Amino acid sequence: MTRRADVRVTVDSGSCIAGGQCEMLEPEVFVVDDIEGVASVIGAATLPRDRAEIVVDRCPGRAVRILVDATRTLDADEPTAGE
Ligand code: SF4
Repeated sequence: MTRRADVRVTVDSGSCIAGGQCEMLEPEVFVVDDIEGVASVIGAATLPRDRAEIVVDRCPGRAVRILVDATRTLDADEPTAGE
């Protein structure tokens, strides 16, 4: 079930350096393909915005983005709504 404050996230595969920080933090949302050397989001997984922001902050490749809507992602240094 998706809670109201949950958000979707994406991974920019061109920026991902496959260190696995996202998978370590949120193993039900991210998976790293060790052969391809890139992380991805598992299905349509969502997570609470505060936890998504932690992953964004800790991604060394700055590859994780919060999906604002179907056409736009939140840049890593862009303030979230209400800030
Ligand atoms: S934390 Fe960022 S750079 Fe590291 S595997 Fe995940 S998406 Fe890729």
